[in-house]
Amino acid sequence: VRGAGSRRPGTQWTTGTCPNCGRSDWCRQSDTGAYLCRRAPGPGLLERRDTHGVPYWIHLPKGLKLRNLAPNKSKLKKAESLVLQVVYGAIIQRLSLSAKHRAEWRGRGVSDEVIDRNWLRSWPATSEERQTLAADLYREFGEQMRGVPGWYVRDRKPMLAGGSGWVIPMWDLETERVVALRIRSDSGTGPKYYWLSSKRHGGTSPGIHARLAWPGRGPRRTDTADTVRVTEGEAKSIVLAERTEIPTLSVPGVALWSAALPWLRRLRARKVLLCYDQDRKEKAQIARAYLEAVRGLERHGFTVSTETWGNEETK
Ligand SMILES: [Zn+2]
Repeated sequence: VRGAGSRRPGTQWTTGTCPNCGRSDWCRQSDTGAYLCRRAPGPGLLERRDTHGVPYWIHLPKGLKLRNLAPNKSKLKKAESLVLQVVYGAIIQRLSLSAKHRAEWRGRGVSDEVIDRNWLRSWPATSEERQTLAADLYREFGEQMRGVPGWYVRDRKPMLAGGSGWVIPMWDLETERVVALRIRSDSGTGPKYYWLSSKRHGGTSPGIHARLAWPGRGPRRTDTADTVRVTEGEAKSIVLAERTEIPTLSVPGVALWSAALPWLRRLRARKVLLCYDQDRKEKAQIARAYLEAVRGLERHGFTVSTETWGNEETK
């Protein structure tokens, strides 16, 4: 198995405390003084979109042009959705949910039936397990694996990204196809939620996705709903949908509310219940992001009301 190819030299982006949102994961800083925030708009920041159409907010020092800061681009293309569906489907089939993770879900009031229905699994915790799975996938699917976010080549051997944590499969609008895997990390450091991606290894990334949790059963492609909740975090969306019997969409951050739009349209929703965490209200940047989300959704014709959720245990 050959390597993924060398990457072109470019600006070095590093992670440190983001001057805008104060968090140290996901946002990036460059040694030129430029920084980009993935979480929230802020004063003096320009809104831009990445190749997946996902917004980010960038600060450029005087005289610096965005095109001089373009991040390195991978030569690999993401596999088409049919391939992702088959490969991620095969991965989900091979994984199980550990006793520890099952207990964590149950602790959030999520029953075994809901766990099964949402295809919740545990990501292989050791690199040996990930290597074995990656090699099996390569034997089964061959070169197509190069375009699958999460799979990459390390020391000429197939490997899978990610570490110990819950896996939550993300469905597309047809509700039956897995298009990405979301992992909630067991580790106390680094981001709590992340996408299974091989971008850091020169491979492909899955983009961002919203996820629909339907109360009482799995979502169907013919479903419609007048009121739909939008919240941050996939686990919380599952918990809230079951507890309140309101279909609940998760977005990977409130600033990324537009990821919910295709779903809201497909469901023919008219009212959006925007749910945010109590602890987030105090942070000015996050509050601004919520305000932007309300305005943005209203601009798209939705009636928006907000609710707060103060329960830490659902995350
Ligand atoms: Zn930030």
